[in-house]
Amino acid sequence: MGPAVWTVLGAGSILPRAGLGCSGHALRATGGSGVTLFDCGPGTLRALAAAGIGLGEVRRIVISHFHPDHCLDLAAVAFARRNPCFAPGPLELVGPRGLVEWLEGLASALGRWACFEGVAVREAAPGDVLAAGADPTRLSCAATGHTPEALAWRADLGEGGSVVYSGDSGECDALAELAAGADLFVCECSFPEDQAVEAHLTPRGAGRLARRAGCRRLLLTHFYPTLEPAVAVREAGAVFDGAVCAARDGSRHFLCAMPWS
Ligand SMILES: [Zn+2]
Ligand SMILES: [Zn+2]
Repeated sequence: MGPAVWTVLGAGSILPRAGLGCSGHALRATGGSGVTLFDCGPGTLRALAAAGIGLGEVRRIVISHFHPDHCLDLAAVAFARRNPCFAPGPLELVGPRGLVEWLEGLASALGRWACFEGVAVREAAPGDVLAAGADPTRLSCAATGHTPEALAWRADLGEGGSVVYSGDSGECDALAELAAGADLFVCECSFPEDQAVEAHLTPRGAGRLARRAGCRRLLLTHFYPTLEPAVAVREAGAVFDGAVCAARDGSRHFLCAMPWS
């Protein structure tokens, strides 16, 4: 049984940039329990195919917040599941409070083609812990303050390790607590230090959170056009002693005691 794998599907922002698409990530746990997506921004479905992951393997989609760069391909997923060439399997949608209403709005705007059927929808509040049947993955979340609903997510895979995904966030205590001791901390760092904006992180902010949390490895993501990933790695590395890496579309990162990928 191989290690769990985190595949980056989109490491950029809503502003077009080659190789850095909108937010989307795929976690394949060990034990054949399928793939969990963390966020589903525009282009996630195409990136999924490029990464060699079938849509039918996706059993759960976890949303951080309702900004379009993080969730707009949910419409594409709903449409794809209705295509006669696709045999939809079980799927669970998980997200912040308001997810049900957001999905209703999608269906209202786009018609029945964007309506999910036979799909479980779960809304989570900060502090909730979610487990799914025989799936060993345990999900927990914390509010990041980026938007009123925004959540960061943690997946504990038992012996398979642990990974925390910030979504979008300011430098907040709740995220540091959620990320405590994580093997892999996938953290946004939208802007350079001299262009910091409220409710987003810079590379040093992400590094400080990783240091406070005692994470083993930091994977930087969500690069806006003014931030070069190599610069971000250097800046975060100035405040965090662990391994630091920049995400790019298609990059894969192994959990547990595997070498840094
Ligand atoms: Zn956002
Ligand atoms: Zn964003």
